[in-house]
Amino acid sequence: MTECNVSGNKRGCNCTYEPCPRKGICCECIAYHRRNGELPACYFNEMEERTYDRSVENFIKIYRNMKKGSAG
Ligand code: SF4
Repeated sequence: MTECNVSGNKRGCNCTYEPCPRKGICCECIAYHRRNGELPACYFNEMEERTYDRSVENFIKIYRNMKKGSAG
């Protein structure tokens, strides 16, 4: 069985919510946010991540704005 690479995952993690006990444990991270209708920090850019609004609605809003920006 493969061990979880927590320290490696942490190096690639953009989440700024430091007290989180799930940091680096990506399976717990995504399960937690999925339960709450959210996505993990790594779906958001640096600025948006810091708002801690990880809702699917916010993700869709950002994604749509990005698409509009690239279309025009
Ligand atoms: S994205 Fe959420 S669950 Fe994952 S490390 Fe950050 S605060 Fe914790």
